[in-house]
Amino acid sequence: MRIGAIEAGGTKFVCGIGDENGQIEDRISFPTEHPDLTLPKVIQYFQDKQVEAIGIGSFGPIDICPDSPTYGHVTTTPKPGWGNYDMLGTLKRVFSVPFGWDTDVNAAAFGEVKWGAAKGLSSCLYYTVGTGVGVGVYSEGKLIHGLVHPEGGHVLTRRHPDDHFAGVCPYHGDCLEGMAAGPAIEARWGLKGHELPVDHKAWEIEAFYIAQSITGAILLNSPQKIILGGGVMQQSQLFPLIRQAVLQNLNGYVSSSAILEHIDDYIVSPGLGQQAGLCGALALGLSARENHIASQ
Ligand code: ADP
Ligand code: ZN
Repeated sequence: MRIGAIEAGGTKFVCGIGDENGQIEDRISFPTEHPDLTLPKVIQYFQDKQVEAIGIGSFGPIDICPDSPTYGHVTTTPKPGWGNYDMLGTLKRVFSVPFGWDTDVNAAAFGEVKWGAAKGLSSCLYYTVGTGVGVGVYSEGKLIHGLVHPEGGHVLTRRHPDDHFAGVCPYHGDCLEGMAAGPAIEARWGLKGHELPVDHKAWEIEAFYIAQSITGAILLNSPQKIILGGGVMQQSQLFPLIRQAVLQNLNGYVSSSAILEHIDDYIVSPGLGQQAGLCGALALGLSARENHIASQ
């Protein structure tokens, strides 16, 4: 089986071909430019690939409500050319195959449930901490949508007592993304994350904000696994700091051995590693194909 996968990121696009076992057999990557330059490259890549379906995990915000007139559009992004851009429609006009369409983080959560760290579970959260912060939510065996889609990167934060940084989110200032995404680290300390020593105070503060959001998410969604990916999470010293802070925040209240005894297996890095996004898009494509067959 040949399924197309598109990881549509704000920095780069990754396109690939995979199968029903999550194996990626071919991939290509290019920088995200104006859509009039980027989408033709996507179309050219898939033109001779004979895929049976295509899954897209996209940067957002995006419209994923099937009844909406702007279903398939990227919506309010300030990225030049991408605001109100009909990404799904542009591809559907060229390829008459079933399409899966969701946020990049929902896609990654889905891929992790199918083949990765949350394999076989009925719930998980997937965080990416990179240029922005996003949270994919999988619950009771399905990806969660609602009015739009979860926007867990923008939850408001309580300040670390030693942190006087204003935050960089253009909408909220000191929301999670404004305080903890890669650009916030750089603006606060004057150095990029990978340039800071592993024992720098930055990491305790970073863990404080991520753990705060995870604590709220555990209380709200009761996920069976929490997966943390994205460039900033390459700093592996963050994992023990985050786990410790989550335990302190919960203070024994959530009575589950997964948290109280096995938190090292509960808050983890992506089982699919750097492929989480592309495999997630593949999983969306597979699911679109299955739904299409079931509806015939
Ligand atoms: P994107 O979010 O654009 O898809 P990434 O997940 O790679 O891409 O995130 C990029 C952000 O993560 C940048 O702000 C960068 O400084 C930061 N980053 C990337 N690698 C590291 C690292 N090894 N350590 C700390 N921060 C990193
Ligand atoms: Zn925000």
